[in-house]
Amino acid sequence: MNILILGAGGREHTFAYKIAQSEKCDKLYVAPGNAGTTKIAENLDVNPIDFEEVAKTALDKEIGMIVVGPEDPLVKGIVDYFAKDDRLKDIQIIGPSQRGALLEGSKERAKEFMAMHKIPTAAYESFSFESLQAGKNFLETLKPPYVLKADGLAGGKGVLIIDDLEEAKTELENMLSGKFGAASEKVVIEEFLDGIELSVFVLTDGKNYKILPTAKDYKRIGEGDTGLNTGGMGAVSPVPFADEELMKKIEDRIVKPTVEGIQKEDIDYKGFIFIGLIRVNNEPYVIEYNVRMGDPETEVVLPRIKSDLVDLLEKTWSGDLDKAQLEIDERAATTVMTVSGGYPESYEKGKEISGLDQIEDSIVFHAGTKFEGDKVLTSGGRVIALTSFGKDYKEALKKSYQSAAKLQFDKIYYRKDIGFDLS
Ligand code: ATP
Repeated sequence: MNILILGAGGREHTFAYKIAQSEKCDKLYVAPGNAGTTKIAENLDVNPIDFEEVAKTALDKEIGMIVVGPEDPLVKGIVDYFAKDDRLKDIQIIGPSQRGALLEGSKERAKEFMAMHKIPTAAYESFSFESLQAGKNFLETLKPPYVLKADGLAGGKGVLIIDDLEEAKTELENMLSGKFGAASEKVVIEEFLDGIELSVFVLTDGKNYKILPTAKDYKRIGEGDTGLNTGGMGAVSPVPFADEELMKKIEDRIVKPTVEGIQKEDIDYKGFIFIGLIRVNNEPYVIEYNVRMGDPETEVVLPRIKSDLVDLLEKTWSGDLDKAQLEIDERAATTVMTVSGGYPESYEKGKEISGLDQIEDSIVFHAGTKFEGDKVLTSGGRVIALTSFGKDYKEALKKSYQSAAKLQFDKIYYRKDIGFDLS
């Protein structure tokens, strides 16, 4: 079967790496891909949100399966677009329908879904510009810090956590007046939960599910989780504190009711669910749903899956996920993301990357790179992720850092404390 992966980052390079190992994969394409994906797949100059172009490419290249990396095409309805066209409807497209994708596309919808299906999450209320005063009154009933969330997609920037009540009221007004455009026409205000975060990944065919390896990512640019938010600076899998007891609570109280909720609401959902969780007093609460894999969590989760990923995805599509094998590598995996100096604010691109051929103990996943002749150049904020295995996360991290030290480009930066809060 020919397979097409949509997206251009480290997540998509990791999907390509894993899918290329499958005997079920004939020709592999990535659209648009990066310098790393050209080694194992053919890159296609196609924009994942131009559905017409994706459809044309799928027909031209006789694609049997499409794996959608980022959320945008899903939230815009790519799965529905394929389902309603007779020429496309048999292509196995992995991801939820637009209704399913709303679990990520609207925080209000996600909270309503959790309330409806009794899934533990922070207490909340949702407000629009018309109910601004009610929102300010609601803030007065809460204890600081105050959590304000733009309802829609805001590129990971739509959540504000504010200590001061007056500032929170002002920000609420700013958000409802268009601070994040249409994304903040509604704002969810929620109770602040104080705890440690982790992520659980689930593959579902809409009724059966498989729990994939857990991961913890490190979002801030600075060491000790300080400074601005980024797409993610590193990740560890498994999460050492996600022991059997916590995982049982997560499965019983969160994963099962989530999949049952999807089924009860008759949502067409064949794909990944990324559940962002926070552990408070050893009890798990949902912070958010994402309807696709995370980046850089994918770079540690997929390499730990020993089973054939294409087989898992085929059974996801056909509704037979209960018959699929899921074997997990016992070893820990870590990834360290190297980024362009200045990121996540302004940074320069086009810097030559050297040392790639010196790396022996890590898997190199390209995030923002491109070829110019024989040279590999930086072409994004996040540049290269270095994934390593070890008997525990400390041993794996040592290798990721040894590899990072061999890599060079002008103004390279990476956090040296990934996993700092785990021991
Ligand atoms: P992402 O960039 O992860 O997609 P997002 O913009 O979709 O984020 P959330 O994941 O809902 O937004 O929130 C971003 C971060 O804010 C969380 O990872 C968490 O650290 C913090 N956060 C969100 N809600 C709460 C809460 N109720 N209590 C404490 N911290 C919270």
